[in-house]
Amino acid sequence: MAYDQDNIFAKILRGEIPVEKIYEDGFAIAFPDIDPQAPTHVLIIPTGPYESLDDFAKNGTVAEIAGFWRAVGAIGRQLGVDETGYRTLANTGPDAHQEVMHFHVHLFAGKKLGPMLVR
Ligand code: 5GP
Repeated sequence: MAYDQDNIFAKILRGEIPVEKIYEDGFAIAFPDIDPQAPTHVLIIPTGPYESLDDFAKNGTVAEIAGFWRAVGAIGRQLGVDETGYRTLANTGPDAHQEVMHFHVHLFAGKKLGPMLVR
């Protein structure tokens, strides 16, 4: 499946949809989720056109992958949650209900986050 240049995060990256960027470097940007599910709920996306974690892991350059994950850690520290803790989540594909087809990592923090999945 080809990357959809009109997905909502592609539009955010192009500046066509305004967001409050809390972090930006050459590899990643981060902004609050529009429908937060924790006191802190940030989305972190690579600047390159990768539709999923699988696509990014397969086709991202080593520099892009390293830069992206360095950014995730930096954002946790910037938010001041590296010591209290946070959860990251990347929904991939239909069974995980990935809604936006641009790879993104959710970062949740700000309270006890409970069990990983509803049983
Ligand atoms: P997914 O289910 O694909 O892992 O998560 C997509 C996330 O994107 C959802 O949590 C949803 O609230 C968020 N989202 C969808 N559209 C927008 C938007 O226009 N702006 C922001 N900030 N978040 C969005």
